[in-house]
Amino acid sequence: MSFASLGLSAPLLKAVAEQGYDTPSPIQSQAIPAVLEGRDVMAAAQTGTGKTAGFTLPILHRLSQGERPRGGSQIPVRALILTPTRELAAQVGESVATYGKHLPLKSAVVFGGVKINPQIATLRQGVDILVATPGRLLDLYQQKVVRFDKLEVLVLDEADRMLDMGFIHDIRKILAVLPKQRQNLLFSATFSNDIRNLAKGLVNDPVEVSVTPRNTAATTVTQWVHPVDKSRKPALLSHLIQTHQWQQVLVFTRTKHGANRLTKYLEGQGIEAAAIHGNKSQNARTKALADFKSGGIRALVATDIAARGLDIDQLPQVVNFELPNVPEDYVHRIGRTGRAGASGQAVSLVSLDEKKELAGIERLISQRLNSQAVEGFEPTPGGGPKVDENEDRPPRGGQRRGNGGNGQRRSHGGGGRGDDARRSSSNRGAASNQRRSQDDNRGNRGEGGNRSTDTTAPRRRRSRGGQRRSGGGTSNGNV
Ligand code: AMP
Repeated sequence: MSFASLGLSAPLLKAVAEQGYDTPSPIQSQAIPAVLEGRDVMAAAQTGTGKTAGFTLPILHRLSQGERPRGGSQIPVRALILTPTRELAAQVGESVATYGKHLPLKSAVVFGGVKINPQIATLRQGVDILVATPGRLLDLYQQKVVRFDKLEVLVLDEADRMLDMGFIHDIRKILAVLPKQRQNLLFSATFSNDIRNLAKGLVNDPVEVSVTPRNTAATTVTQWVHPVDKSRKPALLSHLIQTHQWQQVLVFTRTKHGANRLTKYLEGQGIEAAAIHGNKSQNARTKALADFKSGGIRALVATDIAARGLDIDQLPQVVNFELPNVPEDYVHRIGRTGRAGASGQAVSLVSLDEKKELAGIERLISQRLNSQAVEGFEPTPGGGPKVDENEDRPPRGGQRRGNGGNGQRRSHGGGGRGDDARRSSSNRGAASNQRRSQDDNRGNRGEGGNRSTDTTAPRRRRSRGGQRRSGGGTSNGNV
């Protein structure tokens, strides 16, 4: 099957060809015709399946075929794409710009953690397609900067994660101000009962598309476990990076403090590393990601929320330094590698106290993970010496101790709404998951700006990893 046979217009086919794609991925061949027909779609697809192009291409097609509605001085938003994280918003915005580069449509990305004024300025001029995280979008709506009376299409991307992150109230508020008559596209890696409940009030006679069996990891990812004492995990990780000469490894830790501590350790071992999590400024997060994608750093140490939706071309190696509390996060984590059919490896360093988490993951993916100790790092029967995980936590309520700069900033909550961080408690995520999500996204107001793209403007080809440096006044950032 070719993209041309899906019925996409010439400017879109040209943009797709420029990306080097010759065959639509399974999600694309199923979703594109349905979206072109104007049908609502409910798609079970993880990142890495090509889902973004699956909804972006037909939306661009439909918007470019139809008349741009008139009314007021500003171009009305005709398509709204909601994403849970800033990274994902930035990436989706990037895709809209890439695929729409030969079309006279305007798009913009808005998310929290950066100044709102440049976003206001962009939206006042009007955009056809808006990619947004829910919290910032509501701020902008309440400031009457954006209106939705001419909205034609709504996309909820990674809807499961939006619910996990407690966005349900924000989503409901947004839905309440959209025109009733519209096309709805709901994408989710998993379809829990909560997602199905949300879908009930949202999609109308949807075409259901599923490209990955529920809760299974991409088969292109080789997974295994190295049992090890907790205290020896940093040394084992350094050993693995050095002996296997991993040049680009995404490492997951459970906490921001753990990410900082491990980053420092790796740097001490001569491995270029950076941490990415919710306490980092948006600039620091953007820079860490850009450096990782360009090969400037070998190890990117991330918390789950920060890494959610990251699209890094050909990422060969993911390490779970600690297993996630929530088994679904394991699937999301290892989904960072083995994307778009490429092969990848996911290694989990598992200590005795993580037995329960491992069992939960194996139950979820219906698979026993191969387990093999690494010579010289075999676990001791008692699990080795105790590790104080709070060792470098800042004192409660106090100022963080300076630990290496990197634009580190501590949010003390209470300082107004935390853009993407206002959460409800009525979602399926366990309380710990909820807290972690909130924690990881809080704060980080400040630098940067929004990114607005006139899709007619020429843009540079994506470098390895798809990172695009944007010019003055814009930010290509995320998290
Ligand atoms: P997504 O699941 O949307 O995050 O996409 C995952 C990756 O697959 C992105 O880097 C896309 O650029 C890439 N991709 C999307 N569609 C195709 C395609 N038809 N052929 C090859 N790569 C693709």
